[in-house]
Amino acid sequence: MYDFAVIGKGLIGSAAARYLSQKGSTLLIGPDEPANLETHRGIFASHYDQGRITREIASDSVWAELARRSIDVYSELEQQSQISFHHPVGCVYIANEAGIQPYKEVANERSVPHQFFDHATDLQNDFPFLGSFDALSAISEEAPAGYINPRDLIRAQLELSRTQGTDIVAETAIDLEILKSKVKIHTGNDTVYEAKRILLATGAYANAFNLLEKKLELRVKSETVMFAKVPEAEAARLKTLPSLILDKAIGYLDDFYLLPPILYPDGNIYVKLGANTAADSTLVTSRDMADWMRKGKSNMFLDNFKEALAQLLPDLQAESFHTGRCLITYTKHGKPYIDEILPKQLYVATGGNGSAAKSSDAIGQLAAQMVEKARWQDTLDPELFALPS
Ligand SMILES: Cc1cc2nc3c(=O)[nH]c(=O)nc-3n(C[C@H](O)[C@H](O)[C@H](O)COP(=O)(O)OP(=O)(O)OC[C@H]3O[C@@H](n4cnc5c(N)ncnc54)[C@H](O)[C@@H]3O)c2cc1C
Repeated sequence: MYDFAVIGKGLIGSAAARYLSQKGSTLLIGPDEPANLETHRGIFASHYDQGRITREIASDSVWAELARRSIDVYSELEQQSQISFHHPVGCVYIANEAGIQPYKEVANERSVPHQFFDHATDLQNDFPFLGSFDALSAISEEAPAGYINPRDLIRAQLELSRTQGTDIVAETAIDLEILKSKVKIHTGNDTVYEAKRILLATGAYANAFNLLEKKLELRVKSETVMFAKVPEAEAARLKTLPSLILDKAIGYLDDFYLLPPILYPDGNIYVKLGANTAADSTLVTSRDMADWMRKGKSNMFLDNFKEALAQLLPDLQAESFHTGRCLITYTKHGKPYIDEILPKQLYVATGGNGSAAKSSDAIGQLAAQMVEKARWQDTLDPELFALPS
C-alpha cells in the first residue's frame, strides 16, 4: 500500500507527485500522451504542446504569486533533471487602457521588472517585426518571463519523481473504493492499487468515471489554436520575438496569445496563435471532450486566425497553416480548486483556468503539502482555492 497516490500525470499531478515522493511512498497514475489524437479512444489532456506562456505579471496577484513561486524553481528542476523546458524570451501584453490597468498594478505592486508603453506601437523599437497597435498600450515583462515546454516540464517532474521512488503507471483510474483505512483505485486495465491518501489531479476529466460522489463545479471549454509553419530563416528573423498576449477582438476571435517560433516533434518550426472564438463551446461529457479533441471543427475560423496573425506579424513568411484543439477547465472562482474532499483520504487539485501550466509546480506543491499534512499549510488563504460549498 502506498502512502500517497496521485491520479493524473499532467502538469499539476506530476508536480504534486514529485513533492509527495519526498515525504512518503507515492504512486502516480495516468495515461501517456496519445500517439494519434484523431484515432485515440481514451482520455485527453491540456498539455499536448511545445509552448505555454510563462509570466509573473497577471491581472490577479494570486496568479502572479503562483507563477513567481513556480518560475523560481524552474532552473533547479532543469539542473536536477538535466531536462531543459524554460525559454526566457520575455512576454508582452497589449491591451487598451482599462485592460492593461490591472496588469500595471500587479507589476508595480510586486516590483516585477517591466517597461510600460502608452502606445503599443513603440514596441516596434525593440521588436521591429511587430504590427502597429497605436490605440493600445503595452507592458513588456523581461526574462524569466517567456515560455515553457509543457511536455518537457512534465518529463522533468517525472524524472525527479522517479528518482525519489515514485512508481508511475500509464493507466486510467475508473473507480475509487473508499474503505476505513485505505482507498482502492480500480483502473481500466482491471488493476487495483491501494493508497492511504489520494490526490485527484485529473484536469478536464475530474468529473469523469466513478471517482467522485459529488461532481465538481467545472466548465470545460473547447480551445482553438493555429500553427503557422515557418522556415528556419524566418525563425531566425523572429528570434527576439517574445511571448505575446493581445487583448483585442479581431473578427470572431479575441483574447489572443502568440508563441514565438518553436521546434515541434514533427521537425517543423511553428509560430502558434491561440484565441477564444465565437464558436467555443462547453464540453459537458467525456464523449463531448473526445469528439472535440478528435475531430472538432477547429478550422472554422482559419482565415480569421490568419488575419489576426497578419496584424501581429505583418511580414510573416509562413509556408502553411493548420489548427489544433485543446481543453480549458474553468472553476467557479477562477483559481484552481485545491481542497479536501474526504478528510485524510481524498483531495483534489484541478481547474487550470487556462493559466496553470506556468504555475503548475506551485499548485502541485500546495496540493502535496495539504495531502501530506491533512490540512492547509500555506500562507495563501485556503479559501482562494476552496471548492464551492
Ligand atoms: C491551447 C492552450 C493554451 C494554453 N496556454 C497556456 C499558457 O500559455 N500558459 C499557461 O500557464 N497555461 C496555459 N494553458 C493552460 C494549461 O495548459 C493548463 O492549465 C494545464 O495543463 C492544467 O494542468 P492539469 O494538470 O490540471 O491538467 P492536464 O495537464 O490536462 O493533466 C491532467 C491529466 O490527468 C489525466 N487524467 C484525467 N483523468 C484521469 C483518470 N481518471 N486516471 C488517470 N489519469 C487521468 C489526463 O490524462 C491528463 O494527463 C493552456 C491550455 C490550452 C488548452
